[in-house]
Order: sequence, then C-alpha cells, then structure tokens
Amino acid sequence: MYFFDPHTHIASRTTDDLKALAKAGCVAVGEPAFWMGFDRSGAKSFYDYFRQLTEWERKRAANYGIRHYAWVGVNAKEAEDVAFAREVIALLPEFLDRPDVLGIGEIGLNKNTRNEVTTLLELIDLALKRDELMLFHTPHLEDKYAGTRMILDILRGDSRVDRNRVCIDHCEEHTIGLVLDEGYWAGITLYPTTKASAQRATDMIEQYGPERILVNSSADWGPSDPLAVPELMFVLRSRGHSSTTIRRIVYDNPLAFFNQSRNFSFTPPQ
Ligand SMILES: [Zn+2]
Repeated sequence: MYFFDPHTHIASRTTDDLKALAKAGCVAVGEPAFWMGFDRSGAKSFYDYFRQLTEWERKRAANYGIRHYAWVGVNAKEAEDVAFAREVIALLPEFLDRPDVLGIGEIGLNKNTRNEVTTLLELIDLALKRDELMLFHTPHLEDKYAGTRMILDILRGDSRVDRNRVCIDHCEEHTIGLVLDEGYWAGITLYPTTKASAQRATDMIEQYGPERILVNSSADWGPSDPLAVPELMFVLRSRGHSSTTIRRIVYDNPLAFFNQSRNFSFTPPQ
C-alpha cells in the first residue's frame, strides 16, 4: 500500500533511508523547516537551509520516486530571539512562492515563553495575510499541554483562521481531543523514545476515528525511525483495521490536507 510521511526531516537522513521508504511504499513526504540540532549563526544560514529543502532534498527524494514537499518557517527554539526571527521571517515570502512549498511550518512553542509567542504571532500573521497552510509544532513532554492550549488560544483569537488549513502536530493522548474538537487536523508523531508509539497511536485512532488525523515519523538527526509510518500500518492491520481505514490515515488524509496548498501538485502512482 502506498503512503505519505507528512512530517519527516529528509535533510537529516541518508539515501539508504530514502530507498527503504520507497521500497515500503512511500510516494510523498512533507519536510518542515526545523531546528537542526544547533542554533544558526545568522539569517543567511536559514536562507541556505530553505534552499536545501526546496531544491536539493526535493531532487534527492525524486531519485527514489518520492515526491518531496517543504514547509518554511522559524522553529520554536530559534524563535526566542525575536530580532533574529524577524530577519528570517523576511526571507519567507520568496520561498513560499516556490513549487511544492506547502506553507509555513513547523512553527509553535518550545518553552512557552513571551518571546516565542511574539515570533509566533508574526509568523501566523504572515501566513494569514498570504493564505498559507500552517503546521504547528507543540512542545515536548511536560510543556506539551500548556503549549498546545496556548497555541489553540492564539488561533481562536484570530477570526481569519480557517481551522481546516491548520495542522497541530505531535499530539498525544492528553492533547489530541482538544485539537480535533476545535476542528483542526491533528498530527501524531511516532517516535521510539518520546512522543507516541505505534500502539499508542492505534489506541488514539480507535478512540477518535481516522478523520483529520495525520501520522508521521518526524524522523530527524536524533533517535527516530524513518519507517515509523509503515510500522504503524502493520500495527493497524494486526489489530484488525481494514485497508480502507489504513489507506485513509496514511494516504487520503495527508493528500487532502496538502491539496489545499496552491503550490501542491501530485500525480497518484498507477
Ligand atoms: Zn519536525
């Protein structure tokens, strides 16, 4: 069965990973701009990173028959320096007009600070002015619940937001209900250490249903599994879910969400 990994960091992965993804049935990936494991020394460093995502990684994935879609933004960790973040935000429009760039992401909160919120409000404003899709990172572990609430409060306060054009990612058992109840897309990240396991993700899908759920590996430079989505497909199948349901979660849903972007084009495999 074909699938999308709607949130993964190909820039941190090898060609072996791309080959394994292709062999498992991956036909498309979404790659949000994120923290590369170190703080960048200047806005030019982000400029080159956005070029990497929109030019080079796109080509690398294409060599394995995988369509590559990018998101650009200022990640929550580097959003703390507001003046620096503004320099990076000024670079975004050029990239948002490129083919296969889906919108602004991943943006959000890390430690839920006032500075992070200031940067986030400016990113959201740019997204809404340009009618861009938005992809939100929610904080890790103990900061997740408060950070998710803060993001939902900010979005609720802006009447321009179309909730169907927003994904709140890295949802867990204590936040996914909030996100789905308010009409957003909910991302579940499958991670070997923090975040959700395939079993826990399956529990959540059984509790909430497949509608507006996106599952992803968020595979990056740390311990993570680029094949986490096919692992979930295996667990769903072993727990008795139909191929229609599985396909809906790993293929139809990401396709429907991405398809709202004006820069998205996709030819389904024959
Ligand atoms: Zn990520």
